[in-house]
Amino acid sequence: MTSVHAEQGSGTDHIDDLYWRAASTPVVESDQELESIVRQAELPVLLVSLAAALDDPSILTDDLRPPLTPMDTAPVPHGGMTPAQQERAVEVALTALKRLRDEGITRVGALSDERRRELLGFLSGGREEWLDMLSHELALAPEHGGRPDWRFEDVAAGRDFRVLIVGAGVGGIAAAYRVAQAGLPYAHVEAGETLGGTWAKNTYPGVRLDTPTFGYSYSFAQRGDWPHQFAEGSEIADYLEDVVDRAGLRERIEFGTRLLRLRWDDEAGAWEATTVGPDGVEKARMFSAVVSGLGLLDRPNIPDFPGAAQFQGVTMHSQEWNHDVDLAGKRVAVIGTGASAYQIVPAIVDDVASLTVFQRSAPWMLPAPNYHDAVGESFAWLVEKVPHFAQWYRLWVILTGIEGRAHTVTAEEGWEGAPLSISRKSQELRDYLAARIESQLASRPDLLAIAIPAYPPGAKRMLRDNGVWARALLDDRTTVVTAGVDRFTPTAIVDGAGVAHEVDVVIFATGFRPSEFLENIEVTGRDGVDLQDFWAGNARAYNGITVPGFPNLFLIYGPNVGGVVQGSLHFMIERAAEFAIKAMREVLERGATAIDVRREALDRFVAYVDEGSRRMAWGQPYVRTWYQNASGRVTAIWPYTNIEYWDLTERVDPADHDFLP
Ligand code: NAP
Repeated sequence: MTSVHAEQGSGTDHIDDLYWRAASTPVVESDQELESIVRQAELPVLLVSLAAALDDPSILTDDLRPPLTPMDTAPVPHGGMTPAQQERAVEVALTALKRLRDEGITRVGALSDERRRELLGFLSGGREEWLDMLSHELALAPEHGGRPDWRFEDVAAGRDFRVLIVGAGVGGIAAAYRVAQAGLPYAHVEAGETLGGTWAKNTYPGVRLDTPTFGYSYSFAQRGDWPHQFAEGSEIADYLEDVVDRAGLRERIEFGTRLLRLRWDDEAGAWEATTVGPDGVEKARMFSAVVSGLGLLDRPNIPDFPGAAQFQGVTMHSQEWNHDVDLAGKRVAVIGTGASAYQIVPAIVDDVASLTVFQRSAPWMLPAPNYHDAVGESFAWLVEKVPHFAQWYRLWVILTGIEGRAHTVTAEEGWEGAPLSISRKSQELRDYLAARIESQLASRPDLLAIAIPAYPPGAKRMLRDNGVWARALLDDRTTVVTAGVDRFTPTAIVDGAGVAHEVDVVIFATGFRPSEFLENIEVTGRDGVDLQDFWAGNARAYNGITVPGFPNLFLIYGPNVGGVVQGSLHFMIERAAEFAIKAMREVLERGATAIDVRREALDRFVAYVDEGSRRMAWGQPYVRTWYQNASGRVTAIWPYTNIEYWDLTERVDPADHDFLP
């Protein structure tokens, strides 16, 4: 028997999810098997997905509501349900799962508005102000809110309006998907030969996601059968390829085509975009609007070490890995101890003859015992057999990430523990993480002496650790150098203490140039103003998206929208794309040429994000991190939750904008 509810919802043309599965596999397992699965499940997710599948919210009684206990280092299991709540939840879920089996339910369609509110209300502890944002992320919501509710031909039929999308990474793909949904004519250029952006470029050994996979996907492409809780790099690259194919976006991408210049033409009311294609020929085209999906972390930072040009061995940046170089038996140096080095060092230590790690500052690491694990069997079973379990799980990851770990990195007024901690909670976290490092490196006092960071947790990006970093540092082949890099010789790196480390290969895991937004593109706006001159080393954009004097130019993943301790990056990226499309609609509906954000609106936004970052670990005056620009202002990070960004990007406020005739 199939539920009526499922029948009603089975039309899928209104479902905005490229991975929508109309039906799951029937449940045939015994009661005992089901109990074992329920006991391993994340209970709030299972309860709510069963309530949706059975169309029976009465199973979600108030006493089962997860308290959403804030996470200090990793998500709190079951949202912090007490043991008694968990026992009761197991009972309720087991009964419901048996019903799913016995009633032969394999389908669930879009939820009614009332059901959506009930189910999200249960998961979010009644936080009304979260519901719209969460609906955006819920595959079963009848209207996610992401898809444009208008079409170009209905609003401005016949008008010559073309959009240029730059880049086919996570941001550019999101933009192309929404632009195509709105029926806007567009061109899409990608400098590389492949799509996927950072995930196509970063192929170094060990590359993988260090945030939960289920939170790292599009609301419109909710893949359920991820192999790992922290996906390998190639899995994300494959996902992006697959999304582009499912959405039919591939044939529009001009690969090998790099944007060189953008020049606003006042008379034409359009951007002249000059690109260079695979044939090396420059081409100028006019576009009414430009959406940049250029990444933040894709221009390598390779410090200018004296003598580096004379080095006779091999050098490579983490993002420009040369797979022709066999590291087996080589003497290898890795400069840097950030997120890239953290993955490279353990992945190569067993192959090399020696490994010299140059550490300028030690990293803080969050425990993640399952960092390299495949998803469990029972989890895969739930994805296969409980309708839309994966979609609910994804929603749960995003929901619990709304507040995330922000409370652990928020400064306390008058706290005296600086520069090591910024609050009581920060000090507790510091003590906990330091004790963990102490237990990992107990046998090596020399390493322990340099392994505990001298800055508060969260001031720089924290890494996920299952012990592999410490194991690599403890390896006999590894030497950790903290004296800095003084210079290179043809065969060695000489450290700051004058010791020469003879090496065959040097890996620059020295990060990127994240503050220099759009630095490789010449962008000239109204009145001939150059974008870099306007920014003067301090990139700023209203909502992270628009810049005064640069009409109809929209940045996806622009300044101040990256979350590090809370929130989903995909959400921020999608919202920027959606905001751009809403702004274009305003232009088209008003019969205007372009939208230009006002200077005072930008200044207000900048003051708002600066105020937020000042309260966070990364905003403290004694901290240096890639989140900040050269003068120390935080330009990379969004210091609030996804909810505030939802509110800011919900509508295009005419009071903040000029519309050019
Ligand atoms: P990064 O975090 O900026 O780390 C660069 C490292 O190089 C730091 O340890 C830095 O030291 C060191 N360094 C820089 N210049 C140096 C110099 N002149 N001399 C000595 N050391 C120097 O770069 P990343 O590791 O490539 O990571 C960047 C970001 O990319 C991450 O924070 C993350 O957002 C993203 N990422 C994500 C993943 C993932 O999801 N799996 C993986 C990799 C990267 P200091 O700390 O002292 O500055």
